[in-house]
Amino acid sequence: MLILGIVLATGVNCDRPRGVSLTRASFYVSQNGHFACLNGSGKIPFDQVNDDFCDCEDGSDEPGTAACSNGMFHCTNAGFKPTNILSSRVNDMICDCCDGSDEWAGYVTCPNTCKEAYAKEYADKIKSNAVQAEGWEVIIVYYLKV
Ligand code: CA
Ligand code: CA
Repeated sequence: MLILGIVLATGVNCDRPRGVSLTRASFYVSQNGHFACLNGSGKIPFDQVNDDFCDCEDGSDEPGTAACSNGMFHCTNAGFKPTNILSSRVNDMICDCCDGSDEWAGYVTCPNTCKEAYAKEYADKIKSNAVQAEGWEVIIVYYLKV
């Protein structure tokens, strides 16, 4: 919410290449038509970012495709937890991100399950807190008797 407020207040453009997190977006801005590989190994024309061909040895030019074996894809997973997955899991016909963003080619349909994932985690946390409280009660009762 805070980030959204800052973005709206400052008018910063949120557009970023597919698979790039908001925190890394500033690295994925064209510098005179070029992209600098994140490990500093070189510069490539910016239109080679996410062109489905691995150009940077660290895989940073392909955040949204499976072209680089060492690349990482960022799932925004709005409403749940943002996650980074191996780029080999992009368009592998298995839904890895709860927002379905890793299967963008449409070979399979991934429904957005982030709301359900959040609800399950929240329910599990409440259950776990209840078990913990019960445990503390037993300990307190024991020490009161001693
Ligand atoms: Ca590329
Ligand atoms: Ca996948």
